Order: sequence, then structure tokens, then C-alpha cells
Amino acid sequence: MDGGVEVEEMDIVIAGGGICGLATALALHRKGITSVVLERSETLRTSGAAIGILTNGWRALDQLGVGSKLRETSIPLQGARDIWLDTNKQRASPLSKGEFRCVKRRDLIQMLAEDLPHGTIQFGCHILSLKLDPSTSYPTLQLLNGRTIKAKVLIGCDGANSLVAEFLKLKPKKIFSHSAVRSLTNYPTGHGLVPELFRTHKDNMLCGRVPINQNLVFWFLLLPGYTQDTMIFNDPELIRRMSVEKINGFPNEIVRMVRDCDTSNLSLTHLKYRTPWDVLVGNFQRGTVTLAGDAMHVMGPFLGQGGSAALEDAVVLARCLAHKTRDQADLNGNGMQIVQAKVGEAMDAYVKERRMRLVGLSAQTYLTGLLLGTSTTLVKLFIVVLMAVLFYDPLLHTGYDCGPL
Ligand SMILES: Cc1cc2nc3c(=O)[nH]c(=O)nc-3n(C[C@H](O)[C@H](O)[C@H](O)COP(=O)(O)OP(=O)(O)OC[C@H]3O[C@@H](n4cnc5c(N)ncnc54)[C@H](O)[C@@H]3O)c2cc1C
Repeated sequence: MDGGVEVEEMDIVIAGGGICGLATALALHRKGITSVVLERSETLRTSGAAIGILTNGWRALDQLGVGSKLRETSIPLQGARDIWLDTNKQRASPLSKGEFRCVKRRDLIQMLAEDLPHGTIQFGCHILSLKLDPSTSYPTLQLLNGRTIKAKVLIGCDGANSLVAEFLKLKPKKIFSHSAVRSLTNYPTGHGLVPELFRTHKDNMLCGRVPINQNLVFWFLLLPGYTQDTMIFNDPELIRRMSVEKINGFPNEIVRMVRDCDTSNLSLTHLKYRTPWDVLVGNFQRGTVTLAGDAMHVMGPFLGQGGSAALEDAVVLARCLAHKTRDQADLNGNGMQIVQAKVGEAMDAYVKERRMRLVGLSAQTYLTGLLLGTSTTLVKLFIVVLMAVLFYDPLLHTGYDCGPL
């Protein structure tokens, strides 16, 4: 009891049960370490339609033990093809050093969740505030449902608007000049499309389309600017109508795909990012508190790497924690100062290992987004030259191996 309020004590708490929170809990579980995921929604969050996963992401999924099962839900893709309708130009390009598939988020989230021990995910747990206990320096969480939880370890996987990132005093994230609409379209008799990412560009807009299997297609629109009309975000029918209007002049098959989409999977998002220099210098650890996933490095979808980077974080963090604390007994059986020192060392090793990988991904994503949002030829040229110098092999990021769990 703390001032009349009952305080629950837990070893490892993961804030947020999205891709990163679930992957982190699963990675820890595979290493014999128990954790609790506090998720504010009442059920698994499967919004966002689908996600492209490149070689590096599949490597992380294999380490988590769900790669083979997830592969059964999607077809392998060959590469990318771009068409610019304004200039009638076309270009085919590779997209990954190895594997590239697009999976339904629902499949990914469910597979991560179903391998977790019963009771690991606690739904309806909206974390309202976070402070350090003055006597133990352990993080204490206040939930909307009235619960108070003291954790030995806190991993903030609470996404782009992270409360844990705020606690660590990271700079606020920024917003790209584009917004994105995403959904799935089902073709009951088969879509007959080439298994590739196909991007159509027109008037500073972009429509991408990727088959998931023989019947299902994931598509996204990148639209210049972002709406101030908050009503539209909660109304899929409004998003659908706005999208169809925006792509007036695109080929009929694309307009039909957007018009006939599954509105239950339709979403409109402002694209947020942490600047590469904030990722370079940001403070990602304090005591036994750290971050992973979008909370640490939200980066925009231009490389399709945000989710895969979150999977890599999960593998590396669990490896570092398991290495320093050996097993759960180390968290339970040792005195406070020993736990804090060991966990602190583990988190330090994790942040060191991840930082430059994340700076590279953030910088390449940022420049790609900047290029897309710029109409000035001179600025475009400057960005192209800078990218050619910094990222001489633009697919290098897909060949990354986060190593064994
Ligand atoms: C348009 C678009 C396309 C994308 N395409 C790709 C792609 O093709 N490939 C790819 O790899 N990545 C892609 N991404 C990025 C990817 O979606 C994210 O990087 C990934 O979802 C991050 O997962 P996360 O678990 O860190 O965060 P989230 O998915 O945001 O999960 C955070 C979780 O925390 C919970 N939460 C938040 N606050 C609290 C709180 N206070 N208390 C309790 N729970 C809380 C939320 O409910 C949520 O479940 C794309 C992103 C966008 C916007």
C-alpha cells in the first residue's frame, strides 16, 4: 500500500501491445524471461491493413520462431515497378537483398500474441503517467483504470505518441508533408497481378499496390499535405470518398481497387518521424527504463522498415537482457541495486547496438520522404546527390542481420 493505494509489483512491464510490444514479450519468453504487456485497447490492435517485410525483418521473425508460419500467409514478391503518368516514364528496380513479402497486420499480430503464455497481455490498461519511485528509483505507472504498478524494468513500446519517450525527455517528433491512406481490396476470383510492388505516380501523389496472396491486395496512397478535419479520421466512408476523388485521372483498375476496398481496414494517417539527429543523440535509457519500436524511432513508411526495425529491437533487447540477467531468477533473487546495475548494463548494450542502425534507417527514410515532398529541381538534385553519397547501395539496409536471439 502506498498512501492508501494498493501498488502492484511486477518484474518486466512492456508499455503497448503493438508489433514491437508483442515481439519484445515473445523474444523475452523465448529466453525464459516473463513479462507483462499493458495495452490500452480492449483487444489486439490489428489496424493498418498490411505491412511489407524485407529480408532483415524476416530474419528477426525467424529468430522469434514465427517466420515459417507467417510465410504461409503471403506470396514472395519480385521487386518494384514505378510508373510516372505525367511523363510516361517507367522503371523496374529490386526492393530487397533477398526476401520481400507483404503480410496482413492481423496475421502478424495474432501470431506474435498466440505464442505468448496466457495472461501476458493485459488489455484495457491505458497508462496515464509514469514517475520514478523516490526510494527505489523503479518506474511507477498510473493506469486509467485506477491501478498503480511498480515495475523493476519498463520497456516503452507505446508507439509514436509514447509516454515513455516523453518521460525520457526525447524531443517531440515531426510530421512529414504527406499523409497516407491504407487498405486492402479483395478479388474473390483472383487479382491476376504480377507479384511485385507497383507504384503509380501522378501530380505529386503516389499509389502503391502489393499482392498479399492470390486474392488480396494491400494498397496505399501518399497524398501531399494533411487534413485539419479531424472528423475524417473516424469515418472510413469519408476517407474512401476523399481517396477516390484524389486519384481522379489514375488508371481505372487503380480507381476501382480504391473504390472497392474493405472499409473496415481503411485508415488515414499523418506521417510522423523522429529526426535522424534526434535518433543520433536522443536519450533512450534512464535507469531500468528504455524504448523500442516507433516510440524510439518512428520513421515514416518510405523504406517500409519501421515495423521490421521494431522486430530487430525486440530480438536485440531480449538478447542483451538475457545475457546480463541470465534468467528470471536474477530479477527475482537479487537485491535492488544488483538488479538495477545488471538491467542498466543490458539496456546500455542494447542502445549502443541499435543506435547507428536506427540512425541509418531514419536518415535514409527522411531523405526519401523529403525527395517525395519537394518540387524544386535544385533541392531534388541536392537530395539525390546526398543520398548517392550516404547510401551508395540503397538496398544495404535490407541485408542487415540482427543476429541470433
Ligand atoms: C502508412 C504506413 C505504412 C507503413 N508501412 C510499413 C511497412 O510496409 N513495413 C514496415 O516495416 N513498417 C511500416 N510502417 C511502420 C510500422 O507500422 C510501425 O513502425 C510499427 O507499427 C510500429 O510498431 P510499434 O509496436 O512500435 O507501435 P504501434 O503499432 O503504434 O503500437 C503501439 C501500441 O501501444 C499502445 N499504447 C500507446 N500508448 C499507450 C498507453 N499510454 N498505454 C497503454 N498502451 C498504449 C497502442 O494502443 C498500440 O497498441 C508503416 C507505417 C505507416 C504509417
